[in-house]
Amino acid sequence: MGERFYPDRFLKQVMPKSFYTQGLVSKNFSLQKGAISAMNRARLATGRPIDKTVYDVLLQYKAKYKDLIAAEDFGKAQAFEAAVGGENLLRQRIEQAVVFDKIQDLKAKHKGEFYRWMPSSAENPDPQHGLLYGKIFRVGEGDKEGNMPGERYGCQCGIEWLGEEEVLMYSSQEKAFLGHISQNITIKTDALYENAIKHNFQNNNLTVNFGKLPSKTVRKIEKQTGESLKGFVFKMDGESVFHALSGHGEYKEIESGQVVIDKKRLRLIPHIVWKFDRVSLENKKNGMRRLKFQKKIGHHFTEIVTIGKKKKHLLFKTFYGKQ
Ligand SMILES: [Zn+2]
Repeated sequence: MGERFYPDRFLKQVMPKSFYTQGLVSKNFSLQKGAISAMNRARLATGRPIDKTVYDVLLQYKAKYKDLIAAEDFGKAQAFEAAVGGENLLRQRIEQAVVFDKIQDLKAKHKGEFYRWMPSSAENPDPQHGLLYGKIFRVGEGDKEGNMPGERYGCQCGIEWLGEEEVLMYSSQEKAFLGHISQNITIKTDALYENAIKHNFQNNNLTVNFGKLPSKTVRKIEKQTGESLKGFVFKMDGESVFHALSGHGEYKEIESGQVVIDKKRLRLIPHIVWKFDRVSLENKKNGMRRLKFQKKIGHHFTEIVTIGKKKKHLLFKTFYGKQ
């Protein structure tokens, strides 16, 4: 289990008690010295400008005060009390700014790693965020707007830091298997990876040929599916690789138990066709035929390829793994 961060627990740790007991607003609608020093202490990083939303609240208080004075319903002292109320809004804004800054620091510290979205401690949690509980993201990614827990106003969702190791978790079998993959295959799949990262869907027309299926593989496929693939080659194209990476890989939320497809794991793809445990034939409605290869290398990997009879090729479609 990774280290966790919860906005409410963090605030309890860092905000001085006086922040909740003393007044925060001075008579001229600026922040009291005590409030500023509490903020700076909590924010750790000195020299960061105070969040604009905090000043917006002060302006809001001031406008309300002026209205009350203009309406002549209140004396100055009364109007001030009524305008700032319990200072709750200001406290919330300051807390939010403190949490936001802390998350920016943590993002820098955990750059390139993964985290799990943890449930909110709010009384009325956002149902949209509720859908993200337990899911794994790369640091810097998160909800639809790209917010991580605690970044959006009012969000009290938590973070469990997972590091890179913990999510990628190469099993010992997988490490051994990867160690035996030829340089020739590595160069080709790495090129597909770089291409997918660079082009996404635009002009992504790289196709790589991995050569003829070994005769042993051809015999094994025929035995298990009845498909005769003598002389067939195996190919992968950039767009399918991008799909595999974006659906199950480094760009998107990861369901629990799902394996992250990264650059190294792409190298398994040709080898799984060569040395699968099981294969089955899938007939699609449009007459297309596909093979589903399965292999256990620590995790349970599944790979789908399309059979192209005319061109005598197997074309890579997608790839995923489960723990
Ligand atoms: Zn939230």
